[in-house]
Amino acid sequence: MKIFCVLLAAVLSCGPAYAGRKPDVIPSPRRIIYGTGEFYLNKNTVILYRPTGDGKIGLSVGALKRRIRERTGIDIFAEAVQEVDLVYNCILVMTGTEEELPAGLSGKYGGKIKDLGSGGYFLNVDNNIIICGSDDAGAFYGVQTLLQLIGRDETGWSFRCMTVIDEPEFTYRAQHFDPARQFRDMDVLRKYIRIMSAYKMNVMHLHFTDDQSWTLGSSNYDLTVPGRFYTKDDLKRLVWYAGNHFITIVPEIDVPGHSRALCRHHPEVCCSGGTNILCAGREETYSFLDDIFREFMPYFPGEYFHIGADEVARKTWGRCPDCLARMKAEGFTDVTELYFYFVNRVNELVKQHGKRTIIWWEHLPGTAEKLDSGIILEKWHNGREDTVPAAAEKGFRFIEAPYHPLYLSHTDKPVEDIFKKKYYAVLREYPGSVEGISSCSWGDRDEWGEDEVLLPRILAVAEKAWANPWKFTHRFRKRYDKHSKLLQER
Ligand SMILES: [Zn+2]
Repeated sequence: MKIFCVLLAAVLSCGPAYAGRKPDVIPSPRRIIYGTGEFYLNKNTVILYRPTGDGKIGLSVGALKRRIRERTGIDIFAEAVQEVDLVYNCILVMTGTEEELPAGLSGKYGGKIKDLGSGGYFLNVDNNIIICGSDDAGAFYGVQTLLQLIGRDETGWSFRCMTVIDEPEFTYRAQHFDPARQFRDMDVLRKYIRIMSAYKMNVMHLHFTDDQSWTLGSSNYDLTVPGRFYTKDDLKRLVWYAGNHFITIVPEIDVPGHSRALCRHHPEVCCSGGTNILCAGREETYSFLDDIFREFMPYFPGEYFHIGADEVARKTWGRCPDCLARMKAEGFTDVTELYFYFVNRVNELVKQHGKRTIIWWEHLPGTAEKLDSGIILEKWHNGREDTVPAAAEKGFRFIEAPYHPLYLSHTDKPVEDIFKKKYYAVLREYPGSVEGISSCSWGDRDEWGEDEVLLPRILAVAEKAWANPWKFTHRFRKRYDKHSKLLQER
């Protein structure tokens, strides 16, 4: 079906040159080419979209319609079309390549939008608005950019004419939360999902288990305390909601350390000499984790699974008869070898589900030789960089989450530090090995205002993860202040 927008159009928009406002988009697009004039929204503006196989483009169209209505009060009509004849006053949302753009635009951009990676998009505001994502996520991000461009003058609500060509620097753009220590109900998580997706972040990492509590409600094991856990139904709804915002939930079950809550309920999988560490010697431990993974993996369709593996009191293993027996059987002389053995075995359990394991990396010498190089190393220590080259050269992938400045709950460093080179050893020396960036909100500080700290800073994290700037410029400061204010009003 062909749609002739001319029938619907009432006001011609992109017209005379004007002293246009500079867009205040966060995160910064790769490339903006300014045009002249404005596209004015009115009640005859229509959204057209080309349906994709799985219908996910409808999510972008729905978000566009809803947010325009909330912001302007204008209710825009949307219609699915196969072929498009754009005249004016249309907003077209599609996925595809430059060749697939409507007649007149195909080829106009000299292949500049040909090689956009996942999440990349092309946005053109002229007599019509065209958003073309390299994939569904790209179309969604194009919509997010457009929504940040909306402005108002004496004529009405409008978008400045321009072309934006954009794609993310990193595939993993994460914010972490710690419900095991500071339980958060579904509404809070949904609020953060909405905020994160508006700024093109795509991973919510949830630290579900720790000493204080285990927050995944199991049907097979007694692990939780009342009122502080997520039911299977909660998980289903959360993952669905996140998926609708192009956000992957990365679950974390932190083992073998940080396991006091687990050991309280199931001492049979913990060392006899300790109450907070899983026994690396007993087979029961591995079959318990296998069971738990089988139970929960189906709820998390994303490609990543985090197993913690941090701050392990390995000395406890050195006093446990079962761990000592395992070491003897394997010919280990050091509990650190037992640590690598444990992580590799748990990684094998994760891999059975077709997922990639992430660990909090502690820079243990021997990582490059002893750990499966498919394990993603989340680097949270500042300094301690001497083991980075061997691991990077072995082909490990990294997530940069340096304590300073990205532990937002703990750091008192200024927000400007989020961009600074000196904190990102892997990104500086081995940029090709970096999967992404993650900031962390831990729950082990009683008195801190999460919203007050996190809500503005998440803007800088989003900028770093999407555009990877090394400097907090005066221009970014202006945008940061503006969006901080908008977030406080949400
Ligand atoms: Zn043991």
